Amino acid sequence: MFDTAIAGSLPKPAWLAETEKLWPQWKAQGPELAQAKLDATLLWIKAQEDAGLSVIGDGEQSRQHFVHGFLERVEGIDFEHKVEMGIRADRYKAMVPQVVGPLRLKGRVHETEARFLRAHTRRKIKFTLPGPMTIVDTVADRFYGDRVKMAFAFAELLNQEALALQADGVDIIQFDEPAFNVYMDDAATWGVQALERAAQGLTCTTAVHICYGYGIQANIDWKNTLGQEWRQYEKVFPALARSSIDQVSLECLHSHVPPDLMALLKGKDVMVGVIDVASDAIETPEEVADTIGRALQFVPRQHLIACTNCGLAPMSRAVAEAKLRALAQGAALADERLAHK
Ligand code: ZN
Repeated sequence: MFDTAIAGSLPKPAWLAETEKLWPQWKAQGPELAQAKLDATLLWIKAQEDAGLSVIGDGEQSRQHFVHGFLERVEGIDFEHKVEMGIRADRYKAMVPQVVGPLRLKGRVHETEARFLRAHTRRKIKFTLPGPMTIVDTVADRFYGDRVKMAFAFAELLNQEALALQADGVDIIQFDEPAFNVYMDDAATWGVQALERAAQGLTCTTAVHICYGYGIQANIDWKNTLGQEWRQYEKVFPALARSSIDQVSLECLHSHVPPDLMALLKGKDVMVGVIDVASDAIETPEEVADTIGRALQFVPRQHLIACTNCGLAPMSRAVAEAKLRALAQGAALADERLAHK
């Protein structure tokens, strides 16, 4: 059977945070909020298991945003005075914290939710962290004055937390690097090097998620400017194929990524995006199985993992749940089709 996994995030229930937002406000505080985050995590563990996924995540229920969740536990960052900054080459504006001094972890970042996840499912678990290049692109630098230097400083901290997550029982540690699709030349050189620094010494499975972003309007508008063939992956995939990272995720369904680019990832596990996160239309199992079938022309069966194109955070809960079921049912159907070949 194909492994099935989500990219990372899932919608937060309405009692936990504002819904259908990328940077939602929490609905509670203090111990009540801490409990609500774990309750939501439990709910999504169950939903993923019920849907039939083989790799389970925490749905990032404990963090406000996939980058800022990590940054909140880093010393040297001023969260009180956020500034507006254009991110992903000025694709959209965001209020971001500022780096104001040497970076150091205040302690563990995701211990609570990682151990909670481990305690509540017997299936393989995946945990996501932002990648160094994407972090650098989502904070304002008032201290390092050099993107590469700052990326490696973050990579060291990510590595500390990743090693601890491995000790917590995490099977797959994934770094999210949407910035790799924006700064392609830098990604192929220092981006991948910083990523490998973040994964240094890990013996569990390591992964990188590279996408065209959440299904928000700014990203949809950007994608419309990219033309008929999206070749962004072409630069970074060869560098990743040579790297120590085990799994690489990419967008497939409804993207304009030429499928033959997957062949550049020879030897790696490929997490193929078979679920569109920019549309509320629920994929049918047939559609998912067809997408897997197309990917199988370029990725050997044992290396193919069926995945979502990106996180599902800004969607409605009902749509996300239906998409999880479509993912698992479609992968099962693809498996069945192969058995009858
Ligand atoms: Zn993504």
